[in-house]
Amino acid sequence: MLTAEIVAVGSELLTPFRTDTNSLWLTDRLNSAGVEVKLKTIVGDDDARLEETIRDALKRSGVVILTGGLGPTEDDITRKIAARALGRRLLLDESVLEDIKAKFLRWGRKMPEINARQAMVMEGAEVLPNPNGSAPGMYLEHEGRVVVLLPGPPREMKPMFDERVFARLVGRAGGLRVARRVMRVAGLGESAVDERIAPVYTQYKNPQTTILFNSSEIEIHLTAQGKSEAEAELLLDGLAGQIEERLGDSIFAFRGEKMEEVVGLRLAVAGFTLATAESCTGGLVAHRLTEVPGSSSYFMEGVVTYSNESKTRLLGVPAGLIESRGAVSAEVAEAMAEGVKRRAETDFGLAVTGVAGPGGGTDEKPVGLVYVALSDDAHTEHKRLMLPGDRHLIRWRASQFALDLLRRRLI
Ligand code: ATP
Ligand code: MG
Repeated sequence: MLTAEIVAVGSELLTPFRTDTNSLWLTDRLNSAGVEVKLKTIVGDDDARLEETIRDALKRSGVVILTGGLGPTEDDITRKIAARALGRRLLLDESVLEDIKAKFLRWGRKMPEINARQAMVMEGAEVLPNPNGSAPGMYLEHEGRVVVLLPGPPREMKPMFDERVFARLVGRAGGLRVARRVMRVAGLGESAVDERIAPVYTQYKNPQTTILFNSSEIEIHLTAQGKSEAEAELLLDGLAGQIEERLGDSIFAFRGEKMEEVVGLRLAVAGFTLATAESCTGGLVAHRLTEVPGSSSYFMEGVVTYSNESKTRLLGVPAGLIESRGAVSAEVAEAMAEGVKRRAETDFGLAVTGVAGPGGGTDEKPVGLVYVALSDDAHTEHKRLMLPGDRHLIRWRASQFALDLLRRRLI
């Protein structure tokens, strides 16, 4: 497979304040062009180190992509240093210069003298126009390697790559294409998932399977190579189908969707409405639901009833019930779900109450004890959870279980 490496240039990327996100995006695009990324480097605005990095990159990678440092200022060194590392002269390209001047005119300004630097082009390089900024990129072939210079700002870099570079790399990659898919699982532990699906995925080298665990979700990442995108997708379909047979409803997403998107879609399609009542999650369930565009068509209201008194006043949970069972109890969770459903006149009421910690736990009701409850016209059910993790994780996991309870009801 054709191999690539990415060099992100810019001292700001070595501070705690800026992250190199360009290389993540580029990796995804390179993979789907059939190019494997073997290495990524972040280099500050340092002549010697950048030159060394480019020289090393040319020794080992078929494609070297540089991003950043094409601006007009003294600390934008990529153009100059790339030319030095490749042993090529930088020549003024008159038509690029005219183009930059014209851009500044359109922006209502005269081109500052220093921007003329951006019209310096390496001998033998093709200019990649930049409709979204002043710095053009460059594409060249050097001793059998491809070298690409792209601007740093993502909104300039992305369209330039897609319009001017992607198709050429597909050609060079020999037609091999890579497709990826992310499946997400809820309600099963990592080892339970692996136990069930390892007998299936270990039989395949292509697609490749990786299982990742994060917060309360297990992600199954599938990567397939094929002679065409369609062939790669077909391989993914085959393995995804077999995994689905083993995990069933525990898979909530087949293409990387979030839980709240899946739940929202199901509510929207069925034409159902929802209201939430939350204690320990402090509105997280409502927040996640309302992050999804279009959620106003099914999400009617969410209340955060943190105190006992508010559970009684806003949801009609009997004070005596809280007194006798405690605020963190199956009975109160169900009364909250029923209360909010009644109050909002929705099809579903979803409630969460629990002990998120770190304080407030008792032997009887330890930190991590959470009840989620779901009510519809026919009945009310609850689930008792013992969630591991710190306060943040317990809250997140509780919100996930609550949403998953609703998802399963909607299947
Ligand atoms: P400009 O003409 O804007 O100076 P440039 O090609 O010189 O373009 P840089 O100066 O390196 O680009 O970066 C400009 C901005 O682009 C940075 O402040 C940063 O916000 C963003 N940027 C640069 N490199 C990256 C990267 N690798 N990942 C994400 N953002 C980046
Ligand atoms: Mg710059």
